[in-house]
Amino acid sequence: MRFLILSDIHGNVEALERVLEEAARLRPDMIVSLGDVVGYGANPNECVSLIQEAAQIRIGGNHDVAAAGLIGTDAFSATAQRAIRWTSREIHPQHRDALGEYDTVRRYGDCVFAHASPVSPMEWEYVYTINQANTIFGKIREKYAFIGHTHVPAIIEHGEGLGTRVVSGTFTAVAPGSRYLVNVGSIGQPRDGIAAASFAILDEQKGTIAIRRVPYDIRSAQDKIRNSGLPESLAERLATAR
Ligand code: ZN
Repeated sequence: MRFLILSDIHGNVEALERVLEEAARLRPDMIVSLGDVVGYGANPNECVSLIQEAAQIRIGGNHDVAAAGLIGTDAFSATAQRAIRWTSREIHPQHRDALGEYDTVRRYGDCVFAHASPVSPMEWEYVYTINQANTIFGKIREKYAFIGHTHVPAIIEHGEGLGTRVVSGTFTAVAPGSRYLVNVGSIGQPRDGIAAASFAILDEQKGTIAIRRVPYDIRSAQDKIRNSGLPESLAERLATAR
């Protein structure tokens, strides 16, 4: 199968539409959304609606469940709290219901999908270190784990005799004895310094994992954030990707 896995759209419909155009060209067998469809950006309703149509597996991120009213926002930054309050006011009831129905973790074939660590998805752990990756490899059996949440793409390999190592931020050929933890990066608010939407393609037949980047109309997304009364920093960081 060929999977297209995306995450952290954050209400940025300009970026999501460009990626769905790519998806129409790439024709994956399945599209998986790892969550944070809303929060930060100015088009939460449009993004939920597109994901309901396009993605067959839909995982909930911390911003999604907060906007649905299922968790509090005490652990959120002040800016994120403002964005959640704004999103909660804007979101239509049917989209709020959709956010509340997203899965916390899903297994499909050789894959496990989660927003943060698949070991304890509702703790919203940011997976940044090899030690954290090692813990995850020790507790799951699937060949592939796909996550988001940090907004920084990475492909981490765990192999017999190899231990655990970061192989690439962009591409790897799959080794038969290895397992992989893939952070797919962010569609709508990348934080790796590259101001373009990020997502992953797993091609099981070819045995490849690729991170792909798609430029989008950043200016338009920024203008909407500024005109909607969301914090200015949320517009600025789309251009710096930090
Ligand atoms: Zn996020």
